[in-house]
Amino acid sequence: MREEMRFGVRVLVQFGKGKTYIGVVVDLHDRAPSGYKVKPIMQVLDSTSSVLPIQYKLWCWIADYYMSTIGDVYRVAMPIGLKEENVFKPRTELFIRLTLPYSDDTSIHVAINILKRAEKQLSALLCYLQLSGWDTIGNTYDGSCGNNNVEDFKPKEITREELLNASHTTVSVLNALVKKGILETYRKEVGRLNASGKYAPSNIKQLSTFQSEAYTSVLSSMSQKNVTLLHGVTSSGKTEIYIHLIQKQIEEGRQVLYLLPEIALTVQIMDRLKNVFGDRLGIYHSKYSDVERVEIWNKQLSSSPYDIILGARSALFLPFTRLGLIIVDEEQDTSFKQQNPAPRYSARNSAIVLASMCDSKVLLGSATPSIETYNNAMTGKYGYVSLTKRFEGTELPEIRVVDIADLQHRKMMMGPFSPQLISAMREALESGNQVMLFQNRRGFAPMVECHDCGWVPRCTKCDVSLTLHKNMNQLTCHYCGLTYQVPTQCPNCESKDIRTCGYGTEKIEDAVRDLFPDAKVARMDLDTTRTRNAYVRIINDFSEGRTDILIGTQMISKGLDFGKVSVVGILNADLMINFPDFRSSERAFMMMQQVGGRAGRREKRGLVILQTKNPSLPLISKIVANDYQGMYFSVAEERKMFKYPPFQHLIYIYLKHPKEEVVSKESLEMAQILRKWFGERILGPDKPLVARVNGMYIRKLVLKAEIGIDLKKVRKYLRLASHQIMKNGAEPSLQVFFDVDPE
Ligand code: ADP
Ligand code: ZN
Ligand code: ZN
Repeated sequence: MREEMRFGVRVLVQFGKGKTYIGVVVDLHDRAPSGYKVKPIMQVLDSTSSVLPIQYKLWCWIADYYMSTIGDVYRVAMPIGLKEENVFKPRTELFIRLTLPYSDDTSIHVAINILKRAEKQLSALLCYLQLSGWDTIGNTYDGSCGNNNVEDFKPKEITREELLNASHTTVSVLNALVKKGILETYRKEVGRLNASGKYAPSNIKQLSTFQSEAYTSVLSSMSQKNVTLLHGVTSSGKTEIYIHLIQKQIEEGRQVLYLLPEIALTVQIMDRLKNVFGDRLGIYHSKYSDVERVEIWNKQLSSSPYDIILGARSALFLPFTRLGLIIVDEEQDTSFKQQNPAPRYSARNSAIVLASMCDSKVLLGSATPSIETYNNAMTGKYGYVSLTKRFEGTELPEIRVVDIADLQHRKMMMGPFSPQLISAMREALESGNQVMLFQNRRGFAPMVECHDCGWVPRCTKCDVSLTLHKNMNQLTCHYCGLTYQVPTQCPNCESKDIRTCGYGTEKIEDAVRDLFPDAKVARMDLDTTRTRNAYVRIINDFSEGRTDILIGTQMISKGLDFGKVSVVGILNADLMINFPDFRSSERAFMMMQQVGGRAGRREKRGLVILQTKNPSLPLISKIVANDYQGMYFSVAEERKMFKYPPFQHLIYIYLKHPKEEVVSKESLEMAQILRKWFGERILGPDKPLVARVNGMYIRKLVLKAEIGIDLKKVRKYLRLASHQIMKNGAEPSLQVFFDVDPE
């Protein structure tokens, strides 16, 4: 095998009896390892490398910095199809077409007659005829004269998913048509790649004067600094500037990685880029199948890789051979940081490290940069370019604050709505505009309670109360996913007066339907978007005006550009502001700015109704004034005072165990060891906000260390302490893990 062995090839190794694993060769040497036995390689799977040295270098950096194992990094970095044998099957898709007996003019008429009373089926069939081009031939059902050449006619192939999306129908309606023998489905192998159109740089829009200036400033900043922040209000044309920068890289023969939060990877942004870059653009994110991911990975290793990859955080791990630029849009977004499982890495910060390894540049884009990034820009570590005007000069929305504590007191609230919000909604609907309502809690009610004794149902495995989901008629734990029956009687006092408290998106939806029975209402949250299809459909329906009111969680705040939204309602700002975390002010500001930014994007100035019980909070007035800097300075002040990032390093240390005594004892022990080395820099142990999840008790220690400390040494001691605890404790199921730069 010596001949075939080189860096980055995958090999098969046997572990235990019938178990084989795929590993990656990262070193050829003859040093015997200590502590474990060498296993033979059974087979070499690749003739050329699947992993490039620079990728492995990034894996090692992440494993070290974020204190996880290299195996954890390998697990997130490589697509499953490259880590398991035999899962790589060709991709097929389900198509739909007319059956042979119905494939002519006359019989289509017959079919239409048969379906006269089945309205939904008829409309699905008509939609199919239109998509496939059947409606353009012969003197057909709609009486129009088209192409008479029936023999030569080849209908366009339509996938079932395309038809579902275009006709707004369900699978069961299509199945009924199949049962009647009118339509049939068939499977066909498809290559997803290279199917996305022509490279058409002539479609690039010309930049406005402001945008051109910003573009030039970005270029000049990139010639001096490795990282540049483009701070531009929503709709200022940041994306257009990215497109110009990408084009420049392509002309210079370099590749671009364009990272977006998963949730912002919508059809809208993909279409904008495809329209210009066509088949030079590859898209990579979690909703794509394993097969597609492997295809993209291999294409990036081939001699004709994509020039641009648009993707969510895991796209960072793709192979690049001539990377010139990484764009991280919405850089403040928390979804760039992986929370669980390890590696708990920040894709934004790792992108900066990757860029420096490849000698390429990074552009961070945001309307509301993270405190860390803005601080780096202000201290000159990063370049800084700002865009303060919206394209076409539309004004930012007007934000009206409504005091719901006062209104509640005067009994003027209608459920979750203030009279001001209701009248703004009414006016919007009457003038043919749309409304978005934002509530950052899914489910029907965040809590149910016995009205007599105050008993609240809680999860048996987690320390949290349960959320009521009325549609499914059950209580759900949002931490572990367990579901429970809704009690009709209190187990504590036998009272039957069980009430719901608070509002989730589901209950808001009910309330909206009561108030506006004629409006078309949709809801977008984790529960309504389990499939990619559902997500796309909700967005398309709203952007094409088939829905009037869209209710949602923060999902509705990202990357969507709707033209006719004139009113945005933020139902309860306090939920975000009062969240007990050092980032809550920053987060609340950003979230509200983003949601508000959905209002009035084109001709007209939009209106945001912001409902809160604390209208006099300084943060609220900064949101109203769109005062990012003001927010930054007051948050920075607090962070300095209380020793938080970016003015200190922060690492959380977690211990988990099924027995509370164990985790409690071991965390005290851990604190003692760490205090010997780190002194007052160690805080805790404490119970975190939710101190038990999925049957595991949790304790948390905090390490705050001054900037300039030797972080390598810090990590070394943390690892040492963790080894000691694991050894002494002799508690096999004890888990110790770290969260470096937590978000
Ligand atoms: P941002 O990324 O800052 O939110 P976008 O790039 O999405 O802003 O721009 C907002 C809208 O204005 C988009 O519909 C975009 O196509 C349009 N737009 C921005 N700049 C231009 C331009 N120079 N020419 C034509 N349309 C533009
Ligand atoms: Zn009770
Ligand atoms: Zn639970």
